[in-house]
Amino acid sequence: MAAREGYIIYIDMDSFFASCELLRHPDLKEKPFAVVTKSADKFRGVVQTANYSARKFSIHSGMPIMKALQLYPNLYCIKADHDYYEEISDEISDMLKSYGFEIEMVSIDEAAIDTTGLEESKVVEIAKDMKRKISDGLKLPCTIGIAKGKTFAKMACDSAKPNGFLFIKGDETLDFISYKRVSDIPGVGKKTEEKLANLNMYYIRDLKNANVQALVGLLGEYGSKIYNLSNGIDEEKIVSDWVTLSVGREKNLNEDTNDTSVIMAKLKELSNDTADMIRSTKKLYKSITVKVRYFDFNTKIKTKTLSYYTDSADVLYSEASELIKPLIKDNIMVRRVGVRVSTLMDSSHQQKLF
Ligand SMILES: [Mg+2]
Repeated sequence: MAAREGYIIYIDMDSFFASCELLRHPDLKEKPFAVVTKSADKFRGVVQTANYSARKFSIHSGMPIMKALQLYPNLYCIKADHDYYEEISDEISDMLKSYGFEIEMVSIDEAAIDTTGLEESKVVEIAKDMKRKISDGLKLPCTIGIAKGKTFAKMACDSAKPNGFLFIKGDETLDFISYKRVSDIPGVGKKTEEKLANLNMYYIRDLKNANVQALVGLLGEYGSKIYNLSNGIDEEKIVSDWVTLSVGREKNLNEDTNDTSVIMAKLKELSNDTADMIRSTKKLYKSITVKVRYFDFNTKIKTKTLSYYTDSADVLYSEASELIKPLIKDNIMVRRVGVRVSTLMDSSHQQKLF
């Protein structure tokens, strides 16, 4: 089994509810405080999120408020306001979606973004840009993990918290996970950890060479999942729940060919159609993606992000033709080509800016 092709950017907001509250209670910045369950009184409620100052006193989510107050009597408690957190979560997801990738909002404060098709350096650049927009634009801290596979990206994110950024290169995945504990695998709870400990398996490297049948006997299907993970195979898929914010066209050629002039003519037609669509929706684009499918259904994608927004058909065609050139090869026939633009912005917004 092959490892998955593209990198996943995993974003997790740091102590999200507490960070949202800080936006409207900046005076609490240096003080330990906790967001607590909304309906509960002080005697029955629990902590939902503690800020990092409160965590220094061992206060954590799920802890009864009474216990937290024993650990730090002056703890400031704020009742949770989920409508407010959801509003901010929507703002974050809108911003992330504007990049045009497949994205799964895993929870109110976590997102997984599939950048398959993008060059490694570009992935890191885009992830840094996302982090900057969250911290400068929304004034919120987050941690980003990047790896080949959703589970590995989440693990990278977990181990970089708080306010971290960790990029695990594809060929470093096994090194990264080997020395982690089995409990560092998302979904491995206390019970599973104990069962594995009974077999003297404490670290992910212990699972790597385990008997997969024994693991399945012990944990069912999940056993084979963690066995695969320990061998660097992460098949967890992004479950995208929205329509990609990108516009594009793709078409089969009349017949398979590697004739550059034929492919370029088709690309020009597709670029014009795409630019027409973008103008009719009064948008501007910044990123350009070309796609080539070969006769054997192998598919290659190349993406470029411009330093400016435009709706020009000429820019689109000239950039797309540069991107596609290295994908046209002497000995391999092309069946289908496509062009797509993303990182969209309303053109009315542009006028306001300039
Ligand atoms: Mg979080």
